[in-house]
Amino acid sequence: MEILPGSLIHGMSFILGLICGSFTTALSYRLPRREDFVNGRSHCPKCRTNLGPLDLIPVISWLVFRGKCRHCNAPVSARYPYIELVCGSLFALVSLSFVPGQPEHAVILWVLAVLLLTLSIIDLEQHRLPNSLIMLVLGLGLSLVWVTEQSFVEAGAMFAAALAVGLLARFAGQMLSHQPGIGWDDIKLAGALSLGIPFDSVIVFLGAFGLALIILVAEFWGRRHLPFVPLGPALCFGAFAALL
Ligand SMILES: [Zn+2]
Repeated sequence: MEILPGSLIHGMSFILGLICGSFTTALSYRLPRREDFVNGRSHCPKCRTNLGPLDLIPVISWLVFRGKCRHCNAPVSARYPYIELVCGSLFALVSLSFVPGQPEHAVILWVLAVLLLTLSIIDLEQHRLPNSLIMLVLGLGLSLVWVTEQSFVEAGAMFAAALAVGLLARFAGQMLSHQPGIGWDDIKLAGALSLGIPFDSVIVFLGAFGLALIILVAEFWGRRHLPFVPLGPALCFGAFAALL
């Protein structure tokens, strides 16, 4: 790693992120629909043609074919290039922070980036957070504690505090508005995310979480029959900012 110039490593990390972003789009679409996301081949939802390597180059294919299927001209959602670019940017940020000095830390955060992006998309589109992904986030949080040689006692205290705040918010909402203030999925995710965050980064988490929450409230509040705001993306954004 040391023999490669830093800019080349970060550029390669960005490209790796674009490719993983492509996987993220597939995972976030297929997992909630119980479709096979490992062996299932990508196809155009309109003409059902299986997509080849030419159709699946992250960002480039969408730009070259002007956001259309090259077989039937059906429009292809801009969610694909956007998600790929966000994932690429997250990978590059992780690389800037932890490569080449702490490669194992970087690998954990890259996997976490894919999981948190997938959870955020599923919560925005489907308003739920799959337990399977939350369990993987929990496992990665424990690995982070181990890799960064944080105290497991401190991590346990953070985990308990996150669950306590979540439960408090839930019951406060119930008492004030007869609606749960926060869903069980959000409480579980908050617990899982709290594990890798060092105590002195809590302020970064709160700032980034608050900012994302304002954007989500502006976007969702009053739009549906319930005053429902998906909290998952704000929790993920806050946690990732605190971990960088
Ligand atoms: Zn097509």
